[in-house]
Amino acid sequence: MARDLDPSCKKCRRERQKLFLKGERCETDKCAIERRPYPSGEHGRGRVKETEYLLQLREKQRAKRIYGILEKQFRNYYELAARQKGITGENLLRLLEVRLDNVVYRGGLAASRKQARQLVRHGHVLVNGRKVDIPSQRLKEGDVVEIKPSSRDSAVVLNAVKLAEGRPVVRWLKSDLDARRITVLAMPTREDIDVPVKESLIVELYSK
Ligand code: SF4
Repeated sequence: MARDLDPSCKKCRRERQKLFLKGERCETDKCAIERRPYPSGEHGRGRVKETEYLLQLREKQRAKRIYGILEKQFRNYYELAARQKGITGENLLRLLEVRLDNVVYRGGLAASRKQARQLVRHGHVLVNGRKVDIPSQRLKEGDVVEIKPSSRDSAVVLNAVKLAEGRPVVRWLKSDLDARRITVLAMPTREDIDVPVKESLIVELYSK
């Protein structure tokens, strides 16, 4: 399976903002953006002419990096969103939010989406009592996500739960951190999704 192997901090520097891809480190002064808030490389600090296309491209790249998705899969999400009823941009963000790896992260059972993806791939996550090892699995209202009993006190999960205690509550999920359980209460609305992405620019880019 193709994977994006670029270093996480390099992606944030490329977008010139924190994307919170590394969990605990992102909250500390070791964060690369705190020290070097510009793209890496020789021309990182150079001036770039901001064309309409570039702005649209940056929004798409940022969304892909936040959710850890490669181009082909992202395009598939867009096409699915465009076929659904409602506003395409909002549909797109909703499809990304209800991915299993994102829910594990949002619900506080992993410190980052990348860590959530690993937990899922390595078989530590149950959905409605059954092991699911596909990070892109789409969840629906009423689904219950849990860490399997033998992994509930692993260092990764304990650390994530500790970090999650200070995080804002996600309205569309119910997290029982002690039980390592998340319930999907509803599908997220645009107001529930706090990612720094202007989805309308992504739609403009793809609909050219
Ligand atoms: Fe981004 Fe986190 Fe690295 Fe900071 S520490 S640059 S927020 S991945």
